[in-house]
Amino acid sequence: MTIRVTVWNEYLHEKVHPEVTAVYPDGIHAALAAGIGSDGFEVRTATLEEAEHGLTEEVLASTDVLIWWGHMGHDKVEDAIVDRVHQRVMDGMGLIVLHSGHFSKIFKKLMGTGCDLKWREAGEKERIWTVNPAHPIAAGLPEYITIENEEMYGEHFDIPAPDELIFVSWFEGGEVFRSGCTWNRGQGKVFYFRPGHETYPTYYNPEVLRVIQNGIKWAAPSGAATPVRGNHQPLEQIGSKGN
Ligand code: ZN
Repeated sequence: MTIRVTVWNEYLHEKVHPEVTAVYPDGIHAALAAGIGSDGFEVRTATLEEAEHGLTEEVLASTDVLIWWGHMGHDKVEDAIVDRVHQRVMDGMGLIVLHSGHFSKIFKKLMGTGCDLKWREAGEKERIWTVNPAHPIAAGLPEYITIENEEMYGEHFDIPAPDELIFVSWFEGGEVFRSGCTWNRGQGKVFYFRPGHETYPTYYNPEVLRVIQNGIKWAAPSGAATPVRGNHQPLEQIGSKGN
């Protein structure tokens, strides 16, 4: 089954910061779309400055998994679009939030916490350790992924306790961080994955891309029936139990 993926990127840094343009000349979304590839995936992109941020009812209705990268434009995302994405997650669309997306409106709404963390831009080494090797998102990956230069994110990460913790990062400066976390929200599955600061070529790293591909497969809708809630007629005749 082909999984329909929409890669959403605010696409602002790449247009105004030459050091980011140099790394992602066509935008982070284009690099991610190319890196995810077409083997089992049908990938399209959407960006902040498109009408309805590129996330129309039609686009979301035909999206199995939405990937989200945002940073400087979080406040520019319309609340009505956030509500629309939120409803689609509740209805079963998968959502993968990357890196600075931790502060996006949609992630904060889904988490219900502040989602703040420590950070530092020093181009330091990151080791992403797999702490849940049986999880499908860790499939085919080594015990750890090394990224030579990344921004540091450190604990405490103000999130609700993840349903599953898959990766923990260590940074050269000494901090650690819960880098790969999952939650269920409604019928939808949410995966947060940490690396991907805009000035580093992280989204060309094949192991990082493998995690994202695995995340898409994990987050895709399961096909389970929509739960029916509210007052309910019995399925069996309810008889007296006798005395
Ligand atoms: Zn960053």
